[in-house]
Amino acid sequence: MRPPESNRQLTLTVQPREARVAAARRLADELSAHLAERVRLTVHDNRSTMVSFRRAPGEIHYRVHHMFLEAPEDVVTALAAFAGSGRGGAGPRRRAAGNRIDAFVREHRERIAIPQADRLQPRGRAHDLQAIFDRLNAEHFGGAIDARIGWGAVRSGDRRRTVKTGVYVQDARIIRLHPTLDRPEVPEYYVAMVVFHEMLHQAVPAREVDGRRIVHGADFRRREQAYPDYARAKAWEERNLGLLLSSPD
Ligand SMILES: [Zn+2]
Repeated sequence: MRPPESNRQLTLTVQPREARVAAARRLADELSAHLAERVRLTVHDNRSTMVSFRRAPGEIHYRVHHMFLEAPEDVVTALAAFAGSGRGGAGPRRRAAGNRIDAFVREHRERIAIPQADRLQPRGRAHDLQAIFDRLNAEHFGGAIDARIGWGAVRSGDRRRTVKTGVYVQDARIIRLHPTLDRPEVPEYYVAMVVFHEMLHQAVPAREVDGRRIVHGADFRRREQAYPDYARAKAWEERNLGLLLSSPD
């Protein structure tokens, strides 16, 4: 099975096409092995329906978002259980499978929300992220970090109870900061600490241990805490959570 022809989202997928095709074939084979049925697989970049399947004579036709090409084994098992026939207990099993798939989609939502590279805007109203990035790259990473940086989009009417201050999208090498940080009341040393954290994700990549993804491991934490402004920035954050949770406008 070949993934569908490129659409706008694929411009941000760094993985070469051949690798995607191979990954799609692997996933189809795994599903087929689980289900003991022939599986046809279509990979898409559609944001609204992540997974669907249809039974056709002699095969099950899955349509899955390309995030599932990198799904861990338990998610692949869930994909199979989702479409599995089987009587007795199929309902609860299918619900559990659906929950696992939903959780996986949530974990990957950041990736789906990747801004178009050309729309990535580093210069905000109060803070210039490119200037901060360049300074940190020279001072702390020997210029080795290769990423683009920008502000996330402001969504009006955003009511928050938590705020994800920054995100690093590993495969696209994009750092994005939450726009709530882009105001003069937020000191530059705090913004810089968040940028440093996201840059550190490239220097200390996530790794898989016993099927678990370790993102902020001991090495990561040690280097983060060695950042000169770490304590000062964390203390500021503690005192100003209310500000960060409020809308900038
Ligand atoms: Zn992090």
